[in-house]
Amino acid sequence: MPHMAGQPLAFSPPVQFSEHAVREMCRLARKGYEVPGKQEVFGFLYGIRNGDNRLLIRHARYYRGGKRTRYGIDIPIDDSRRRRRALSRQLGQRYLGSFHSHVEIGGWNARGLSPADLQSFRNDHGSPLEVIVNVWAGTPRSLRAVPKTVFAFEPDTGYHYRIRAYAKLRNGIRRTRIRVLRSRAVVIY
Ligand SMILES: [Zn+2]
Repeated sequence: MPHMAGQPLAFSPPVQFSEHAVREMCRLARKGYEVPGKQEVFGFLYGIRNGDNRLLIRHARYYRGGKRTRYGIDIPIDDSRRRRRALSRQLGQRYLGSFHSHVEIGGWNARGLSPADLQSFRNDHGSPLEVIVNVWAGTPRSLRAVPKTVFAFEPDTGYHYRIRAYAKLRNGIRRTRIRVLRSRAVVIY
């Protein structure tokens, strides 16, 4: 098992997402999908760790920097960390991790962390979570429940999303349980 400097942020699963944060991640993933040639998008997650040691993610914020392609994102480390600290101060919330999208290309869509994703997450000691948002277009089908996964479908746009979160635990990087705190019943999970 690879060595991780410092202790990972301790929390009790599931990680809770506000519907607002989920919608924002989905909206950004969709924007990247609609760029000609398709692009992955990348951003930061903010929220709190409450008294029960639960992480509650309230906001997702897009990061403009770096170089995006359909297969990955090259993020300038110093600039992105300055930006994420500034956003944390602005929002008055804790930085809880990053998210990025994986776009469907010719029917193929990488579900988990790629080896490069894993490496950059592991090296980023300030980041407790890495969230992947898969995005693809298609007709709705009945979705079966998949552990540790949130599915969303937007009837208005016809896009599907699959959301998974990875956390640094004592035994390494693992997929963790997530839950969406619903405020309105427009997106179907
Ligand atoms: Zn990736």
